Amino acid sequence: MTVLSCPFCGVRELSEFEFHKTLPNAGDDPLSATYFRINRVDDSQEYWQHVRGCRAWLQVRRNPSTGQVLEMILLGTRT
Ligand SMILES: [Zn+2]
Repeated sequence: MTVLSCPFCGVRELSEFEFHKTLPNAGDDPLSATYFRINRVDDSQEYWQHVRGCRAWLQVRRNPSTGQVLEMILLGTRT
């Protein structure tokens, strides 16, 4: 993954974004989500922020193996 498409700014270089956190996969049992933090290699949910742009917070679901973005949700625009 070398680019991300911001809902406001369009396609931008990944260097404009800042990774914040990986979320446990939906559907995982609470024990694994809390203690083991196991995420699948083909499906990762992450928080990103467009820090060198509009500062929008994004929840990105992507395939870390290929870098393909599967889904992007705009969370907000606060800093
Ligand atoms: Zn943006």
